Amino acid sequence: MRLSRYFLPILRDTPKEAEIVSHRLMLRAGLIRQQSAGLYSWLPMGLRVLNKINAIIREEQNRAGAIELLMPTIQSADLWRESGRYDAYGKEMLRITDRHEREMLYGPTNEEMITDIFRSYVKSYKDLPLNLYHIQWKFRDEVRPRFGTMRSREFLMKDAYSFDLDQASATHSYNKMFVAYLRTFARIGLKSIPMRADTGPIGGNLSHEFIILANTGESEVFCHKNYLDFDIPAADTDFDDVDGLQKTVDKWTSLYAATSEMHDEKAYAEVPAGDAVSARGIEVGHIFYFGTKYSEAMGAKVMGPDGQERPVHMGSYGIGPSRLTAAIIEASHDENGIIWPDAVAPFDVALLNLKVGDGASDEACAKIYKALTAAGRDVLYDDRDERPGAKFATADLVGIPWQVVVGPKGLAEGKIELKRRSTGEKHELSVDALIDRLT
Ligand code: ATP
Ligand code: MG
Ligand code: MG
Ligand code: MG
Repeated sequence: MRLSRYFLPILRDTPKEAEIVSHRLMLRAGLIRQQSAGLYSWLPMGLRVLNKINAIIREEQNRAGAIELLMPTIQSADLWRESGRYDAYGKEMLRITDRHEREMLYGPTNEEMITDIFRSYVKSYKDLPLNLYHIQWKFRDEVRPRFGTMRSREFLMKDAYSFDLDQASATHSYNKMFVAYLRTFARIGLKSIPMRADTGPIGGNLSHEFIILANTGESEVFCHKNYLDFDIPAADTDFDDVDGLQKTVDKWTSLYAATSEMHDEKAYAEVPAGDAVSARGIEVGHIFYFGTKYSEAMGAKVMGPDGQERPVHMGSYGIGPSRLTAAIIEASHDENGIIWPDAVAPFDVALLNLKVGDGASDEACAKIYKALTAAGRDVLYDDRDERPGAKFATADLVGIPWQVVVGPKGLAEGKIELKRRSTGEKHELSVDALIDRLT
């Protein structure tokens, strides 16, 4: 992508309304634009990151056996009356009336709708277990939308829903998502800690929130620090291995970790003083097992092997990709801007031509751009007629992992500069060696 032809509206000044660094940087680096309170447009650069996060989430959901579908954002109030949540949900739900005076709502979550889909088609235990998910926009009329996409009113959610014959099988389904979440956040470049959590309006009794420790987080959390060094389950984890998966979950729940709602002072006091962490955190994912709460209310029953009909056991599993985008920046930035982890970076390489119009520089850039692009690297080529200082500042601000700096001075000695955004480490290389290095 040539920057001169791209749409990257960078803000020079720090937006006053943004209280935390991720919000400031997302606005300044041209990732998002606020359209009204808690509603954001995702500009091209921001959308690239969001799509990369979604791709990782998808891969890990699929690996764990979940199956993707897509449900609408608008739902019928009648469905929510069946579960009793239409009135219970309160003011966070955006209620809409259509031209026929039918009561509708913009979905804040999808337990009811997925239960309706399930009950329409699945009648036998032979079709279980089943886990269906989608990545779809949600709306919650938050009292205080703030911190940009960290707490917006419209936000993206990956929500999965599992269906099982009994509690034992439902626990296995829960464990699959638990492990998938550990892998997902690690691949995104974040250290997440699963913490015992309250179930809120979703209901149920078994629940973990996946928390990223950050000073700007809205949750108050308490945990053992060793979780930060635990090994992440491997890519070849066998999700059908019931005992193996349980062992992993047992390990990841063996030490103290709880959000303030579930905090137990007495148990926390047992954690050795040097290991106890009392901190703020960002909730990036949340998993629930809630048994037959919705299946009973909505008549989602299957025939068991004994010929008896019974309500299915369900769980639901959410991740917020739009909140994650901000959480990554909270965890990875410096005074000059964003530092994207490779896995979610909008582009892999920023190619800076310090003297556009200089024959040798243009030629070297063209060669590098062509070779890297052919090798599948996403290159943002800064071919604008701008001062070098402005180009360096832009590259640092938008946080692309590799910067390739091409200018007449270096080229005269056959050198170009490769800089790693995260460490500031610089190498001087020939054009060919650089191409070798990045392909
Ligand atoms: P919070 O405690 O922050 O209000 P929640 O517990 O209400 O979140 P869940 O119902 O558990 O949220 O939804 C699953 C995931 O959706 C959350 O873990 C979070 O990543 C994301 N999410 C929830 N609310 C928002 C929001 N207002 N803006 C952005 N992401 C959100
Ligand atoms: Mg909430
Ligand atoms: Mg919460
Ligand atoms: Mg939650």
